[in-house]
Amino acid sequence: MRLVPAVILAVSLATTAPMRPAAAQGDPAERLAGALLGTTPLEDDLETLTDEIGGRATGSAANLRAVDWALQRFKDAGVEARKEPFQVAALWLERSAAATVTGEGIAFAPRVAALPFSTATGRDGLTAPLVDAGRGRPEDFAALGAKAKGAFVLVETEELHDIEGLFREYSEATAIEARAIAGGIGGLVYMSSRPNDLLARHNASLGPKNDRPMMMMERDGAERALRLLRKGKPLTLTAVLDIQSGPAYESYNVVGEIRGTRRPEEFVVIGGHLDSWDLGTGALDNGANAMMVLDIARQIRRLGLKPARTIRFALWNGEEQGLLGSYGYTRTHAAELDRHVMASSYDIGTGRIIGFFTGGRAAMIPVLDRALAPVAGLGPFAHVNGPVVGTDNYDFMMQGVPNLVGNQESANYGPNYHARSDEFGRADLRQLRLNAAIAGVVTWGFATLDLSLPRQSAQQVDSLVRGTDLADQMKSFGVYDAWVAGTRGRRP
Ligand SMILES: [Zn+2]
Repeated sequence: MRLVPAVILAVSLATTAPMRPAAAQGDPAERLAGALLGTTPLEDDLETLTDEIGGRATGSAANLRAVDWALQRFKDAGVEARKEPFQVAALWLERSAAATVTGEGIAFAPRVAALPFSTATGRDGLTAPLVDAGRGRPEDFAALGAKAKGAFVLVETEELHDIEGLFREYSEATAIEARAIAGGIGGLVYMSSRPNDLLARHNASLGPKNDRPMMMMERDGAERALRLLRKGKPLTLTAVLDIQSGPAYESYNVVGEIRGTRRPEEFVVIGGHLDSWDLGTGALDNGANAMMVLDIARQIRRLGLKPARTIRFALWNGEEQGLLGSYGYTRTHAAELDRHVMASSYDIGTGRIIGFFTGGRAAMIPVLDRALAPVAGLGPFAHVNGPVVGTDNYDFMMQGVPNLVGNQESANYGPNYHARSDEFGRADLRQLRLNAAIAGVVTWGFATLDLSLPRQSAQQVDSLVRGTDLADQMKSFGVYDAWVAGTRGRRP
């Protein structure tokens, strides 16, 4: 753990001392950083969201409770806030999932979790041969040949440790699922990429278009099945997946707002998604950052700071189903996007913020560096000027709006990602507070500094797609087809 540098402690002490007129006249960014490093309800809010409301998959009753609770927390802080509706194409929630593996003289029941938008199996389950699909590479499916047809294919995975592994997993899954479906499989079973019997809900690539059972099997159970298969023992899998599915429905973002004084018609957005998957309680993904966004709004209001531009504090919903809440926002607020100066997202747990992804717009870096000056002691910060897909900056980026994603150390994000273990106790509360100071001054900087970051044209967005690895990332996250179809992203 890094020590808080003296400069930050000085800021903190100065602003938590009894308020005198002189202190109130200090640099607003330094005062904001100091307040965020002091005592605030940040930890209590995260504990309430995770322990009391719990896992909050979009479409669930817990998700609606989280929306109403978060709205009230903005209001408690004196921050104007509203629910903003958007459409989700299809409801998908797991009620329960179970599996039994049988063979000659063999029977065991490994734990499984259905993958999002897996089909249900009916009460008696689906029974089919379980076959070894290796790593799911082309040669693995070639070796399986006709044996894949109608079978449950079991795909071995590498254990997930960090963000790089996570992006690799998403990217490989897209190709594996395409091969599996081409091979006529009955259902897909991934070995859990988490240790022991830990389960996670990994997004499948097809989304609501998926038409067969897909699940993750605990690593120990999947390893046992693979050892048996590799010794030549034929196995059968019975999976019972009870899924609640339904048609399109309305979900809600929660958006707090502090009006600008000099340029109220210009907007700066700071966002973190409020929804989570439901095996755990979504502390790292993404309760921590959602509660950080709320606390930044609260402290700006409490200190009575007046930004030049209007700041919107967005708790997105439907992120896990395809970045849907932020997509909905860009549609609802389409007429204002020319006046969106910057939209930022935080979504990598509580690892240290080491810089920002600036989406291919180098002009953001000097603004960032100026904004970060009051917390330079929490650095060093180094920015990555490339586009990144996987969280709620996506539709802003594809609409040409300057966007940032907090680039955080992986810390414990990977192993707990979408897993049963994503619980309050995994959050690094001290680092979350330091991150809040960083995110706070960046938000404040973009809301107050003189800058010129015009929205990109459709042609400029198109060249970003063509000139970088953006298209591959879009394919990994299932958003490429909508771009090609012209239904998502800026078009002439
Ligand atoms: Zn997330």
